[in-house]
Amino acid sequence: MRTKKIIFFSLFLLIFFSCFAQEIQFNKVDSTAKLTEGPYVFWGNETATIKYILNNNYVSQDITVRGEGLFSFNLEGFDGDFEISSYIPKINPSTYSDISKFFVISDIHGQYDRMVEILKNNRIIDANLDWAWGEGHLIILGDVFDRGDRVTECLWLIHKLEMQAENWRGQVHYLLGNHEIMVLQNNTSYVHDKYKKTAELMQMKVSDLYSVNSEFGRWLRTKHTIIKLNDVLFVHAGIHPRLTYYNYNFQAVNNSIRSNIDASKDKIKYNELLNFLFGSDGPLWYRGYFEDTKTSTQIRQDQLLELLRNMGVNKIVVGHTTQDFINPFFKDSVIPVDTGIKTGNKGEALLYENGIYYRVKANSYKEQLIFPIE
Ligand code: ZN
Repeated sequence: MRTKKIIFFSLFLLIFFSCFAQEIQFNKVDSTAKLTEGPYVFWGNETATIKYILNNNYVSQDITVRGEGLFSFNLEGFDGDFEISSYIPKINPSTYSDISKFFVISDIHGQYDRMVEILKNNRIIDANLDWAWGEGHLIILGDVFDRGDRVTECLWLIHKLEMQAENWRGQVHYLLGNHEIMVLQNNTSYVHDKYKKTAELMQMKVSDLYSVNSEFGRWLRTKHTIIKLNDVLFVHAGIHPRLTYYNYNFQAVNNSIRSNIDASKDKIKYNELLNFLFGSDGPLWYRGYFEDTKTSTQIRQDQLLELLRNMGVNKIVVGHTTQDFINPFFKDSVIPVDTGIKTGNKGEALLYENGIYYRVKANSYKEQLIFPIE
């Protein structure tokens, strides 16, 4: 049994804030908008450093970690408690069987309110934003990062639900998308200004917020790219038939991507397999299941069905390429889930329960998707 230490941070924040906390004045910013952002946790040998921005001020506070276990803290200016574990996060299995229910959302892109609305109204979480789906499996199909301005809130919520779900023998699977990889590799093309300002105030690069020693960074670096539940594969963008030419199973894909997130651009460029895995036909970017794609050649139905047969599955669930609504195709073998949560007011989720697939909406509308062929 892990010991649970509660550290009520705000109680002594007033003292620390004036005495010990490091403060840097916020310069290049709109003076009407005071930034409060974070927290970001960084692990040292026996300390955890909590860094955040409070009303334009950079605050950095060390806490001593005695022994291993769970810690929770709260901060002035932030809602709720933050729970962290000094244990190194584990890599979960990538294959599961006999799963009776799963719920899939994709491409959240920092739209925290929309994500909460969808999860709450479909009773995956309760009014306090705590796990309420028992043994269910929640799959976040990548691209939580970029575009929107509430990425950190999304990450803390997913992080919390992952810990809570395990207590109910449920599970949260957060899969990597191309935007997770981009940010970890410090490609800031789609990063909201808020995070660039946060990093600047902390005298860091954006990717340093998610470094290998950070709570988010070490957690994200345990994540899979492809998982299998029952006879269904889940991946952010899609799987190109070329993957099977490499005679490479999806567990090997997960390992290769995970262990090369921090590899140099040259290493990835000059290694044929890595170049494929991180490139436009790789599982994080591929758009070939869809029409009107500019970056990938479109796959034919027979090629797709053969690919799935070779991989020992019946269906593949993907995000990344935004659709108007969830509408399976290729004999119901491909189920696209990205339906525009990134806009802030659209987006559906996929629910599988008692052998039936449904598309569900934020208003808890629920429609059966796939009917058996007579
Ligand atoms: Zn994507």
